[in-house]
This record gives sequence, structure tokens and C-alpha cells, in this order.
Amino acid sequence: MDVPALLARLGVAADGACAGTLAVRTPIDGQIIAHLAPSTDEQAEQAMRDALRAFHAWRVVPPPQRGELVRRYGNLLRQHKADLGELITIETGKIRAEGLGEVQEMIDICDFACGLSRQLHGLTIASERPDHRMMELWHPAGIVGVISAFNFPAAVWAWNAALAWVCGDSVVWKPSERTPLTAMACAALFERTCADMGGLPAGLLRTLIGGRDLATRLADERRVPVLSATGSCAMGKALAPRVAARLGRAILELGGNNAAIVCASADLKLAERAITFAAVGTAGQRCTTLRRLIVHQNIHDALLARLQRIWRQLPIGNPLQADTLVGPLIDAAAGEAMDLALRQATAEGGTVLCGGERIADPDCAGGCYVRPALVEMPTQTDIVRRETFAPILYVMSWRDFDEAIALHNDVPQGLASSIFTRELGEAERFMSAAGSDCGIVNVNVGPSGAEIGGAFGGEKDTGGGRESGSDAWKSYMRRATCTINRSAALPLAQGIRFEVEPDAGPPH
Ligand code: NAD
Repeated sequence: MDVPALLARLGVAADGACAGTLAVRTPIDGQIIAHLAPSTDEQAEQAMRDALRAFHAWRVVPPPQRGELVRRYGNLLRQHKADLGELITIETGKIRAEGLGEVQEMIDICDFACGLSRQLHGLTIASERPDHRMMELWHPAGIVGVISAFNFPAAVWAWNAALAWVCGDSVVWKPSERTPLTAMACAALFERTCADMGGLPAGLLRTLIGGRDLATRLADERRVPVLSATGSCAMGKALAPRVAARLGRAILELGGNNAAIVCASADLKLAERAITFAAVGTAGQRCTTLRRLIVHQNIHDALLARLQRIWRQLPIGNPLQADTLVGPLIDAAAGEAMDLALRQATAEGGTVLCGGERIADPDCAGGCYVRPALVEMPTQTDIVRRETFAPILYVMSWRDFDEAIALHNDVPQGLASSIFTRELGEAERFMSAAGSDCGIVNVNVGPSGAEIGGAFGGEKDTGGGRESGSDAWKSYMRRATCTINRSAALPLAQGIRFEVEPDAGPPH
């Protein structure tokens, strides 16, 4: 783990990562890998001024030229994929394949946004008035604030930033205080892209390093008309009212408590692979991690026996090693939260079938490695209805399909959901208005691992925001509805007559 060399290759200035009070640790062995200086009030104010100035110049640049910047950024990311992926692994503890996958997601959204830069279409609308026409214009919104979580330290920011830039906005980013190096590397690569392209306004991206106070500042900042905040439901509940108090727009991407319903007709081989990746991938630290398994009673015992065999054989350890599938939790506190949840689940009548114990790796002493837990629950108790950000899969059984859907929806969060079935009727009901109440609804696909082409986000306590593909770009722009009159008459809408015939007065 030669972090200084890695940072140097990614263009992060050496002095940027070695002086200050913010200690950055790698979850791999708990060692400190950098000391950063948190952004001061003056720096935050300067960032806002830079970003506003950049916005004023950038908003009038033709969108396809804005797309060209994002296309070039995607290409630079391609060149640095290995280094950036490794840095993500070092800072988050996710395995190499997932670190690289995260960079690929950034590249994908750059490609998507570049294409989008020629497709920021508005509607043309039939007017009820003769010789009139209506149309919608989409204009840049302003500075887009981005607050991001530790578990996707680069991709989620890129979903926001790539769209914001092609939409004509500038970006001020407050990354997680646990993954600031990845943010600094992403920013350094972006600055290099801007310098290579030339002629661009300075300040299209400003990054604020530090804790919650900076996130709160962004929430209160009137110069930030759009704030995209990714993190826990508690964070969303703290920040959303502040954005609302100044009538700003918040895109909230908050916690999930994702379930899969397994039907009696399911292809169990396929289901068990999907369940395993979704439940234990990223060591259970994805917003879309599978946390609740709702299994038809006829296949319950057979599926659980197979899952227990898999859970006991999972390769757990140093995420930099090629054969590891489950890396460490982000820190010891996450391990304690997992212990606490397992104790509460037992107290609520659950049985821990396997997992939950610490895994000692002599090369990684200081890291928090756990075997993912499989817990059978008699019903959906309090602990099951909560998101514990660790690899715990609660299993419940069902007899009646309506009962399964009711169980599925009976949690505060509404992010991702799955059904495993070969019955068309069950799949269609799950996707229908009376089915899953989540933002992401999958059939014979686990709840995690979304593609960038779709709009990503969820309902209820997950916050209702949508990012990434489809028409999510509209949240980063403001809409102007324009009406044009090509005649000399002035008919009013709804047929209203409003005419004043003044007496013939003195000529003007
Ligand atoms: P977190 O809420 O602790 O922190 C996320 C960000 O918000 C950080 O930048 C942090 O500094 C800031 N923050 C946290 N609490 C705050 C507060 N009270 N006031 C102001 N700022 C605050 O989340 P985390 O532990 O970094 O990430 C895990 C959580 O994020 C999980 O709940 C996970 O489900 C969620 N998440 C959601 C999505 C999504 O797209 N829906 C994606 C990734 C993670």
C-alpha cells in the first residue's frame, strides 16, 4: 500500500495529503494513511465564489461543448482506472473488482452525460390561442452541491457531477470525511482535464474537505439552488429541512432496507448467486445491500441450507488480494453496530444460523473483518425494520403472496427490491402499483448493482431523489415555459375578455 506514490500518479499534490488534523485511515488494517487540513470558513466561501463565477460563464457554453469536457474526463479516468480503483479499495475496504467497478461506473456516466449533452430536449406544446406556440426551455440551475457517503466515494459524486456539468452547472463537493483522498484524486484528474482542454472557467469543481459542519453549510447556502445529499436517513432528516427552509431543491439518496421475495417456482441456483452477491458484496455496505429475504415456506429449508454452506466458505480478508470476496467493515464502530444488531435480533426471537464472528488476519490486524451473518427471524421485528450498515441477512418465510408483499413493504425505507420467480403473474404483480413500493424493482436480479442508464433512487425514508440515467438530468436544470405570439392580436387564455376602449382623448 504505497499511498503517496498512488496519489502522486493521480496528480494529488504531495503537500495536500500530509498536514492537518483530519486523520484518514484505511479500513484494511486501521492505519493512518494521511493527515488532511479541513477546509476553513474562508476556503469554503472562496469555493462558493469561484463556483458561482464559473457557473455564470459555463451556462452560456453550448451543451455539446460541455459534453466534450465530460467525454475527456471519462477518457482520463480510463487511463487511471487501475490507480483510482486501488485508492478506492484502500480507503473504503471494498474488493479490487468493486473498486475498479466504481471507476467503470464513473466512465459510464461520463459517456452517458456526453450523449445527453445533445439531448437536453424540451417539449413543444400546442397553444389554445391562434398563432401562438408554447415551448419548454431547460436552463442550467446554478451551483450544484454534492454531499457523498463513504461507501461509494467516487461513483455517486460522478453521477451528479457529470450530469451537472453538461447541464451547465458548477459543482461544490463535500465528500465523506472517511474518504477524502478519493475525492482529491477525482478532483485532481478533473483539473487536469480542464487544463488540457483549455479555455474553461476556473471553479467548475470545488471540493470541501471535512466534516458535517461543511455539509450543513451547503444545506444553508442560498447560492446552491440544488443540493444532492447521499448518506444515512438521519443525515437526510437533519439537512432536508434546512434546504426546505430556504426553498431550495434537495435530491436525497438515503438509506435502504432492501428485500427479495423468493417464490416456490424460483430458479434456486440463480437466486442463491444473486442473493449472495447482494447480501455480502461490499461487506454489506451498499445502500442497495440485500438485508431481508422473504422465502416461500416450501423452499425455505433447502435454500437456507445452501446459503449457510456458501456463507461458511466466503473468502474474507484483505481486499487487495485477488481471491477475496468480502473485505473489512469501514471501522470498529461498524463492527460494534453489527454485534448490537445481532444481540437485538436474538432478543427479538431470531436465531443466528451462521456468521457474526470476527475473522483475524495477521497481515491486517487493526481492520474489522466479520463473517456475514444469516439470521432466521420469526417475523419482521424492530431490528429487521432498521438499516444496520453491515452484512446481516434476516430471513423470514411466507405462505401467501399478498402476505409476502405486505412484509416486503412494511419498512420505513423504499430503495431496492427483488423477486425470484418463474411465474409471470407473480413478477407482474410485484412490479405493479400494488406491488413493491421501492424505486428499484428487479425480477430474477438481486437488488444491488444498478446500471447507470436507469434513474437511481428510492421512496419513503430513502428520500425520493433520482440520479444518474433516464430523465434524472431534469433535477439539475430549471424549466422555462415560453409562449410566443406571432400575430398582431392578443387573445387571452381561457377565452377571457379584458378590453378597455378609451374615450377618444387628445392626440398624443
Ligand atoms: P452518513 O450519513 O454518516 O454520511 C454521509 C455524508 O453526510 C457525509 O459526507 C457526512 O459528513 C454527512 N453527514 C452525516 N450526518 C450529517 C449530519 N447530521 N449533518 C450534516 N452532514 C451529515 O453516511 P455514511 O455512513 O457515509 O454512508 C452510509 C449511509 O449512506 C447508509 O445509510 C447508506 O444506505 C447510505 N447511502 C445511500 C445511497 C443512495 O444512493 N441511496 C448511496 C450510498 C450510501
